Amino acid sequence: MNGTAHLTIGAATGFIVANTIQTTPSTTLLLVGLGAVSGLFPDLDIDGKLRNKITLSHKVIQSVAQLIGILMVFYSLYEGTATEKWIGFGIGLGMITLSSLIKQKHMLMITGIGVVAGGFSLQEIWLILLGIYILIASFAPHRSYTHSLLGVIFFGIIAKKFEISIGINGVFYTCMAGYISHLIADIKLLPFNKRGIKLFLPVSSKEI
Ligand SMILES: [Zn+2]
Repeated sequence: MNGTAHLTIGAATGFIVANTIQTTPSTTLLLVGLGAVSGLFPDLDIDGKLRNKITLSHKVIQSVAQLIGILMVFYSLYEGTATEKWIGFGIGLGMITLSSLIKQKHMLMITGIGVVAGGFSLQEIWLILLGIYILIASFAPHRSYTHSLLGVIFFGIIAKKFEISIGINGVFYTCMAGYISHLIADIKLLPFNKRGIKLFLPVSSKEI
């Protein structure tokens, strides 16, 4: 399934979670955005094997990297002490600039390193883990670990830590629903998918 479809389904799951727990309008907006991002996340691995083949995917990765950069700038301004603010702000700004400059190889890897660095400077465990996730995705073959149960669990840990950190209910459920919606949309049972997902990696590499 393509990026736009994943994004739309993810956003819809965010909206459903928001309606279920009856959030305020601003939180609803946040959850819809988070659902959309989570719905795209598993495909960050396209920077690996298909790196030089799909140009549209680069646009998606670039947008995700820039979005993370923008979020990091805002997050840094709200949280942290004066120095932390400027370090996070600088890294976020650097990521936005870098990701718009580097269009080809290694962009995702650089983004991952940037996020890890940002996590350490802001002392946010979820940000460090997110950077590690991005780094792994940049090396993993397409539709492998990010599209597996292990990927779901790892992303779930990040989402839980993120929810605790910003203190907004529904963040964890939205991230999980968005991420899982992507895996469901990618299974071989659906007629428009030629390939399935290896859900049980590394135990079994059977595509489902
Ligand atoms: Zn996918």
